[in-house]
Amino acid sequence: MNNKTAYLTIDDSPTSGFRDKMSYLKEKHIPTVFFCIGQLMEERPDEIIECIQKGFIIANHSYSHPAFSKISLEQAKDEIEKTDEIIESLYQKSGIKRPAKWFRFPYGDKGDLKHGKVFSIWRRSDKKRKDYIQNVLQKLGYTQPSFDDVNYNFMRKSNLFLDIDWSWTFDIMEWSINQKKPTLGISSLQSVLKRMQKQRPSDCRGFLGFEKRWLASASAEVILLHDHEETNQDFNAIIDALLELNLEFGSFSALK
Ligand SMILES: [Zn+2]
Repeated sequence: MNNKTAYLTIDDSPTSGFRDKMSYLKEKHIPTVFFCIGQLMEERPDEIIECIQKGFIIANHSYSHPAFSKISLEQAKDEIEKTDEIIESLYQKSGIKRPAKWFRFPYGDKGDLKHGKVFSIWRRSDKKRKDYIQNVLQKLGYTQPSFDDVNYNFMRKSNLFLDIDWSWTFDIMEWSINQKKPTLGISSLQSVLKRMQKQRPSDCRGFLGFEKRWLASASAEVILLHDHEETNQDFNAIIDALLELNLEFGSFSALK
């Protein structure tokens, strides 16, 4: 199989490991979008400016990382707008034009009372709440690229790429390592790396069907990884493992 395209996205930056992580990604020439938390950017503005100047893209991941189904619509609007202003000002200080406005919900929770279980057929979506927040994003000029090279049925059926917020096709799930009750039994770096070899890696957002996925599929991927202090020491090993796979890291500048 030819190399397939993978777009790397990293959520929850910037933490204490941020500078090392971006340096490593720069060294390995991996284009990356960092979905950043507003209040963390306020603590490390210089590192965000450095990141922009290194050619990476900074995107919006809310101000305080709430579950959007658990907050009011007014709070949701505020979380998005406040962070948008922070990003705008950091781009201005960096001297580099902001290339696009991109947003991802914390926990993939669109605020529609499905609590991030986007593939679950058992949870109903609150259309009013969902539409309100999508509207806030649209008015601010946010977009999600169409990702034409992602051709998974489970993605097509859920229409996730029609929404303005960013989705993902493969979660590395390294965040599970340090949980009291690890999700899907992923409790070590080894189990993370082992899961990366599976043809139908399970997902915690609901049932994806029996479609072959990840390395067994030719579809492009939007990969989700996190900038968490608890897994700072695992970051390079995960990147190295990704580099050993048949992946071509996609550039975001070509996306529409
Ligand atoms: Zn997050």
